[in-house]
Amino acid sequence: MPDFELIDGKRISKELKDELKEKVAKYKEEGINITLAVIQVGNDKASSIYVNNKKKACEYIGINSVSYELEENVSEEELLEIIKKLNNDDNINGILVQLPLPKHISEDKVIETIDPKKDVDGFHPMSVGALSIGKKGFISCTPYGIIELLKRMNIEIDGKECVIVGRSNIVGKPMEMLMLRENATVTIAHSHTKNLKEVAKRADILIVAIGKPKFITSEYIKEGAVVIDVGIHRNENNKMCGDVDFLDVAPHTSAITPVPGGVGPMTIAMLMKNCVNAVEIQKD
Ligand code: NDP
Repeated sequence: MPDFELIDGKRISKELKDELKEKVAKYKEEGINITLAVIQVGNDKASSIYVNNKKKACEYIGINSVSYELEENVSEEELLEIIKKLNNDDNINGILVQLPLPKHISEDKVIETIDPKKDVDGFHPMSVGALSIGKKGFISCTPYGIIELLKRMNIEIDGKECVIVGRSNIVGKPMEMLMLRENATVTIAHSHTKNLKEVAKRADILIVAIGKPKFITSEYIKEGAVVIDVGIHRNENNKMCGDVDFLDVAPHTSAITPVPGGVGPMTIAMLMKNCVNAVEIQKD
């Protein structure tokens, strides 16, 4: 296989978490104890794993976490009341509601009820708006983590052609705004894009978040491109893969994220960074 660099999200996320740990310790010396409230509704297995990993990361870094484990049939009203109480509690710096929620609860209403100054997931319309006009605020963790990966790998973004495949509110769209902020020339592709292979082949940096296992093959890649794979899937043998066919694509890249161990670990690390950023955001 020709040379390509593996973008090691596991290593980089550990590096970042260790830096945050130091920062949290300094805050503690100043009497600031960062606290994250984590709300889970029901006991969906995947959600429980995510919530546990988030709590473990808090513990590692020295952030307090308080859990609210609510029954699957909790009413929307009760959930909104809990959020409002947490909004008014000065001891709480961040509020996270694990998604997806049961069908009888409006995710939009829940997201919009969280105080934008405690919105550590970065999903509130105020956070999205702030990002789009370059103001201070919380940034959605997965795209925020991708920028951090690129920077820590010394991959130049300024002036590069970046193609993002996928336009979801939590990945594709904020990713577009972040890459623009870093002065890339950005194209965002989606399921109605014509000639996706040709569009993707323009990319110096190709970011894929479509939710289709091994969809992107070497036919979509310009020789030497950087490829970031956001997708997470498990096959019938419980083995993980991404939206990119890694073995086929990697030899044509200059750098690529693996799945697992690429973007995934960065998402939780950036949630921790948002919790630390909350202290500054709440001071303003
Ligand atoms: P969504 O399902 O919300 O969005 C998928 C996007 O891909 C849509 O914009 C859709 O287009 C586009 N799309 C679907 N099929 C095609 C196609 N054939 N050609 C071009 N575009 C297509 O997904 P998410 O953004 O939430 O997640 C994407 C993947 O990333 C999933 O595998 C998810 O599990 C993973 N993920 C991983 C995270 C991590 O921490 N590593 C965090 C978040 C997500 P259209 O809008 O036209 O429908």
